[in-house]
Amino acid sequence: MIFTEKHDLIRKLARDFAETELTKDILDEIEETGNYPTELLAKMGKAGFFGVKTPKQYGGQGSDYLSYVIIMEELGRVSAVTDIWVSAPNSLGGGPLMLAGTEEQLNKYLRPVATGEGIMAFALTEPGAGSDAGGTVTTAVKDGEYWVLNGRKTFITTAPVADWSIVYAKTDKTQKGSRGISAFIVDMKLAGVSCGKSEHKMGIIGCPTSDIILEDVRVHESDMLGEEGKGFSNAMKTLDIGRIGVAAMSIGVAQGALDEAIKYAKERKQFGKRIADFQAISFMIADMATKLQAAKELVYRAAQLKEINSPESGTAASMAKYYASEICNEIAAKAVQIHGGYGFIKEYKVERIYRDCRVFTIFEGTSQVQQMVISGNLLKK
Ligand SMILES: Cc1cc2nc3c(=O)[nH]c(=O)nc-3n(C[C@H](O)[C@H](O)[C@H](O)COP(=O)(O)OP(=O)(O)OC[C@H]3O[C@@H](n4cnc5c(N)ncnc54)[C@H](O)[C@@H]3O)c2cc1C
Repeated sequence: MIFTEKHDLIRKLARDFAETELTKDILDEIEETGNYPTELLAKMGKAGFFGVKTPKQYGGQGSDYLSYVIIMEELGRVSAVTDIWVSAPNSLGGGPLMLAGTEEQLNKYLRPVATGEGIMAFALTEPGAGSDAGGTVTTAVKDGEYWVLNGRKTFITTAPVADWSIVYAKTDKTQKGSRGISAFIVDMKLAGVSCGKSEHKMGIIGCPTSDIILEDVRVHESDMLGEEGKGFSNAMKTLDIGRIGVAAMSIGVAQGALDEAIKYAKERKQFGKRIADFQAISFMIADMATKLQAAKELVYRAAQLKEINSPESGTAASMAKYYASEICNEIAAKAVQIHGGYGFIKEYKVERIYRDCRVFTIFEGTSQVQQMVISGNLLKK
């Protein structure tokens, strides 16, 4: 068995939190208003959900990747948008800092991110540089002790409410492609930083996404993250870890969809029988459960390989993200199908699940990008 007693306790803690705090009323209100309650975020911070893997000396829990996966699974089973709030500090916000932060940066930025006292966004994507993130055209030019940043980042999770953002910018225009990119910690209150409008999204409503616009933003050299020119590698390593998070939210959300489908199939009667008694429905449920179990094994394996820094961990994370996000969409679609017309109605949980998980095969590297990573690793030797 891969799980220890400690993992079982963490699962119980996360499940209890999800079942008591993420009530239908609260989740419906988030959906209607687009606002995630700050009191709920504070409770999640207190429960230690924002710094699961962050070392204790920087305010985190110092736990392992499997613990992170378990928390994402249990919260995602009830609310996908809650998982976005949890993955943001653990993966994309805290990840780049843990990989390259100086002692001073870790104390100043990682600590509040891990405790929930501050929000760090991750700004890599640009209007013209999505899957091809190496095509970054945001620039940073040295001027004395400062770097002057100009450009536009797009689709940035938490940007409108963030205190800081990691921004990737080209510091050496003579270098082609992904080379010559550096990472910066940008205070969102600095002159010249602004956000675009909060995007109206299909799902994961309640965690804002917007552009970040940088106009002659002066960032002190002490806020460069890692070595000059090593920003792209920092971003890619962060995404390697981040993909385990998206894979974990996928299995959690898929479990929620499967639970709802099973419950409904046992309750709903047609032609004088429970619809669960029709083979077409019961076999659909068998397929959903089998694929979900296969995805879980991939995700747990990716977490374990990452824990020991195995050379296979990058491929494993991509396989987990690719498969788990694809089958989550498939399971959500089947769960809607099993609900018939009711699955199309907002009152039923599967309607939201179906919309929420659509982005899982897109952000942090599309399924096609994962296929490129997996095949690239297999074929390079
Ligand atoms: C809700 C949301 C939140 C996000 N949060 C963040 C964030 O916090 N920080 C951040 O930096 N970014 C974020 N993103 C951006 C996200 O990572 C990108 O949208 C994603 O990487 C895809 O880039 P793109 O949208 O430009 O699509 P494109 O790269 O233009 O891709 C379009 C299509 O072409 C395919 N494609 C592209 N290149 C190839 C190829 N070589 N071979 C085969 N197919 C290919 C893609 O798979 C896709 O199907 C977020 C996006 C969303 C929607």
